Amino acid sequence: MQIRPKQWFHSFFLTELLRGMQLTGRYFFGRKFTVQYPEERTPQSPRFRGLHALRRYENGEERCISCKLCEAVCPALAITIRGEERADGTRRTTAYDIDLSKCIFCGLCEESCPVDSIVESRVFDYHAETRAELLYNKERLLANGDRLERQLAADRAADRPYR
Ligand code: SF4
Ligand code: SF4
Repeated sequence: MQIRPKQWFHSFFLTELLRGMQLTGRYFFGRKFTVQYPEERTPQSPRFRGLHALRRYENGEERCISCKLCEAVCPALAITIRGEERADGTRRTTAYDIDLSKCIFCGLCEESCPVDSIVESRVFDYHAETRAELLYNKERLLANGDRLERQLAADRAADRPYR
């Protein structure tokens, strides 16, 4: 096999190795992209789809009216709702469960909700050590909503012009 002059030149002077080292050097001395998590965080969109929460109105009343649209639309069948009519004729849930081990964080439950009750928050760094801990019931979802309400309301307000 005949070696062409250009190929010989690159092999003899190790030009490809030098080009590789040049690229390494550029990133070595250049601006660093590493984020020092958890002290530093990357920007998040108001539409970020993280841990679920159930919201209340300002007077403390639960927003959810047990219409079950979120349950019907969920492609992963992760939501289970039971509801009842109250004495004043309004409907409220008696149970609202989400199995986060099934959830694919598609956001359809949030999109379908007519009263902005079930929402997905910006929280992504939660964990569970058993499957049971990924079963979120109504109390845990409402607690998420109460804890995160300020950010949830701000995110809904920021996204409202596009909905
Ligand atoms: S985010 Fe999608 S998969 Fe998860 S509970 Fe909502 S609708 Fe179901
Ligand atoms: S969370 Fe929203 S969509 Fe789901 S049952 Fe309640 S009101 Fe209906």
